[in-house]
Amino acid sequence: MERVKQEVEGHYESPIVDRIKAESGVLRVDKTTVYLAKQFGFCYGVERAIDLAYAARKVFPDSRIFLIGEIIHNPEVNRQLSEMGIVSLPWKSLTSEYDNLDENDVVIVPAFGAPTEFMDKIDQQGCVVVDTTCGDVMSVWKRVRKYAKEGVTSIIHGKSGHEETRATASRAMGADGKGSYLVLLTLEDVDFVCDYITGKNADRDAFLERFGNSSSDGFDPDLHLTQIGVANQTTMLKSETQEFQTRLGQAIEIRDGEGSENFQAFDTICGATQERQDALFGLLEEKMDMLLVVGGYNSSNTTHLVEIGGEHLPTFFIRNSTCLKSLEEIVHYDIHTRKETTAYTDILDPEAEIMVGVTAGASCPNNLIEDTIVKIFELRGVDKAAVLEP
Ligand code: SF4
Repeated sequence: MERVKQEVEGHYESPIVDRIKAESGVLRVDKTTVYLAKQFGFCYGVERAIDLAYAARKVFPDSRIFLIGEIIHNPEVNRQLSEMGIVSLPWKSLTSEYDNLDENDVVIVPAFGAPTEFMDKIDQQGCVVVDTTCGDVMSVWKRVRKYAKEGVTSIIHGKSGHEETRATASRAMGADGKGSYLVLLTLEDVDFVCDYITGKNADRDAFLERFGNSSSDGFDPDLHLTQIGVANQTTMLKSETQEFQTRLGQAIEIRDGEGSENFQAFDTICGATQERQDALFGLLEEKMDMLLVVGGYNSSNTTHLVEIGGEHLPTFFIRNSTCLKSLEEIVHYDIHTRKETTAYTDILDPEAEIMVGVTAGASCPNNLIEDTIVKIFELRGVDKAAVLEP
């Protein structure tokens, strides 16, 4: 395993990132300064998942190896696994491809985990399972299973179509399948539910229309909001999750009285997500002209870093250094329109002193961060050798 780890690190390491870390997160060359967040990039869960995927290839060199969906939300990493012959299976529904698996096949479960029906299926097919589900995700499952056992509905703060939330929702059904869940994404969703709980707006049809696709089958708001417990996708924005808990707790108190036991909450945001959000708040104390957030566009924790940055300064969500087209042109992902777009800006003005902040989500390897930093300097007329020089 140690050799596998070294091989993985060899793919994704970065001497420039190491240098900036060693220099307290700041690299200044001529008129360009780059600030790097204190915590960024690969988290322990992602590192472990990639290590296990590489190890699976080494241990089963002659077997067909499959992966449920993507190992993590980073196209570069997924491409490398694909080049190693690891084939991605559909993750939204159990297709006929799963029927064709057998006991000679290896199936890797990604860091987000997979819904129980997928786990049951690969088990029935007799496959060798390499489960890379992160321990922090499993903690959430423990919590929602407990809710189900107690007859409590899980209110999951997350994206209903996200792999991790789908996996968590399936566990919220409990061992007997009689549990219930409701996935809420926004504070508007929460207020809608709170109004239903307090009776301010108990429009059942409107409720079912709004949440029909993000709740358990047969969800009945008159029944399933009697006792609720909050859990969250591990990569959500902490402040928002806390607000979810506060508002839902207050709604239950209005309906059932102070100290009611019909409400439970448990913060299941993972340590790595929290550290990256906290580190970004620290970085934002620096005077900066621009923030670049590097990561896969479908990465939840990266999106939240973009949200935080965007409240303070011009922030661009880029998938890699190729998005920095020129000093004036940046291709980036707009988290509001959910589309890649092009921004034209004079922030990188070659004549001005500029300060650029850089951070990255938990699924972004250091080599992509390095490429981005090098590109900033190169666009500003500083070559890579000067950036590498101690
Ligand atoms: S972001 Fe958190 S939950 Fe997800 S893999 Fe990393 S440590 Fe685990």
